[in-house]
Formats: sequence, C-alpha cells, structure tokens
Amino acid sequence: MKTQQINCYNCSSSEIQLYDTENGFNLVKCKNCGLLYVNPQPDRSEIEKAHEIGQHRGEKTIDVTGNFSSQKVETYLKIIKDFYGEKCQEFSGKKWLDIGCGHGEFIKAIEIFSEGTCNIQGIEPNVYKQKSAQNQGLNVSFFDLDKCETKYDFISLLNVYSHLPNPIESLTNWSNLLTEEGELLIQTGDSADLNSQDHHKPYYLPDHLSFVSEKILTDILKKIGFNIFQIKKYRFSEFPVPSLTSVTKETLKLIVPHKKSSLFTELFPKHPNRDMWIRATKKIEVL
Ligand SMILES: [Zn+2]
Repeated sequence: MKTQQINCYNCSSSEIQLYDTENGFNLVKCKNCGLLYVNPQPDRSEIEKAHEIGQHRGEKTIDVTGNFSSQKVETYLKIIKDFYGEKCQEFSGKKWLDIGCGHGEFIKAIEIFSEGTCNIQGIEPNVYKQKSAQNQGLNVSFFDLDKCETKYDFISLLNVYSHLPNPIESLTNWSNLLTEEGELLIQTGDSADLNSQDHHKPYYLPDHLSFVSEKILTDILKKIGFNIFQIKKYRFSEFPVPSLTSVTKETLKLIVPHKKSSLFTELFPKHPNRDMWIRATKKIEVL
C-alpha cells in the first residue's frame, strides 16, 4: 500500500511522538497541539477506494460495512430528543443532509422524530451501505459535494470526522453548503487527551485517521467560522452498559487463569463518556 509521511493538519507541526501502533500503522501524537493521527497515512486514492468498498487494508483487512441497526436508531432518537426536546415541528420543511450516513440510522431517527416532515437525505460512498439504506426506504445516494448547489438548513456528520484525511479542508467546503442560519451537528470521540492505556480500542487504523479532543475540535470549528452553542457527551457505544449478567461474567474471568476480562476496559472504563456531540452555526459576518 502506498503511504505518505504527513504533518499535523491542525497546526502543521512535524514534531511527533509515537502514541500506539495497530494493524501495521502508527498512531502518533502531535507534540504541539496534541492531535492523534495516523502517520504515515495511506495515499488519498487508497483512502477513497477503502471508503467506497468499506474495506481498509493493513496487516489485516478491516471490513466496516456492517448492517442496518434498529438499536442505533433508538440511541439516535434519545440523543435527538435530548438536544431538541419534543419540538419536532422545528424540522418541518427543513432541508437536512447527513454526510457519511452509513446504513441511514440517523436519517431514520430524524424521520421518526419529525414525523416525516423533515426533508432529509443522506450521502454515502459505500455502495453496500447505500443499498442497505435505500432498502429501508431512505433517500440515500452518492454525489459530488464539490458540485452541489443545494443549501441545507442542517448538516450532520456522525462518526465521519475521524475518517477524513483532512477534516479542516472538508469542513470548510461543507460549511458552504449551509444556509445563512444553517446548523452543523457533528459527532466524534473526545479522546486525544487520554493516555493510550485508557483510549477505547480497537482504534480501527487506518479506517480512522485522527482523533481529537474537545479543545482541538472546537478550536478548528471556530477557526473556520463556526459559533459553537451546545456540546454534550454520552457513553461511547463501544462501552456496553453494565448489566448484572455481564458484570458477573467479566468478574469471574478476572479469577480464571488465561481469561481476558473486559470489566475495566469496557464495562467500567476510566472515561466512558467521550462520545462528543457539537452543535454549531456559521458566524454571521458583520460588514
Ligand atoms: Zn498539531
């Protein structure tokens, strides 16, 4: 696979220290701003191809295609209600674009919440996921966002940020697709300031290319012209909510030789609530 050595996309520094390795890739930490990123990084053409087919090459090929998950729809609905209350009429007639929508679970959740009154569509490069979303009756396709002339009232980016080779460039371009009072909803992990022992794993390198902290991401958003007005954090989906059965099972594993227990890595991790959701609007330019 073709790879290239890169500098930090946030602060351009080349000063790095090794943070961890996985699947034949190095995750490094920028000594200047603290961003975690894959370096060397797969070539852009490799990244684009991987997004299309949903497979990422490394020592092992990672298949990230998966299936439509009703459970995910439920989780998203809870989060949407937490953010927007019960005011489903707020979305009535609004244009919403969900970028990198996967199987379309978030679109489904918005459709349920808005009682079908929101004009939401999704864009997804992976053909299998596109089909899967279309099979759910959702408006999902793939088109060139650089040539898109539609303006949207809402743009969401859920679990997309970490996959972008240059998020600043992408976010800047996509912010032009928002109406003047349009809103960006972005979700990613807040994990760059954790020790590697405490970071959720696997990292899914090189499918994920960088990890931010709240400070790094809010600074980036401000720099490209956004006002941040709400941040919420939830339990990471990688960390299952402990139940009596799972706690008992994983506790027993602690005392049985050669058994690996996930009691402290998944059920009671040190930093469970690092699933970060940010709402931001474009700054109004005063002439
Ligand atoms: Zn940096």
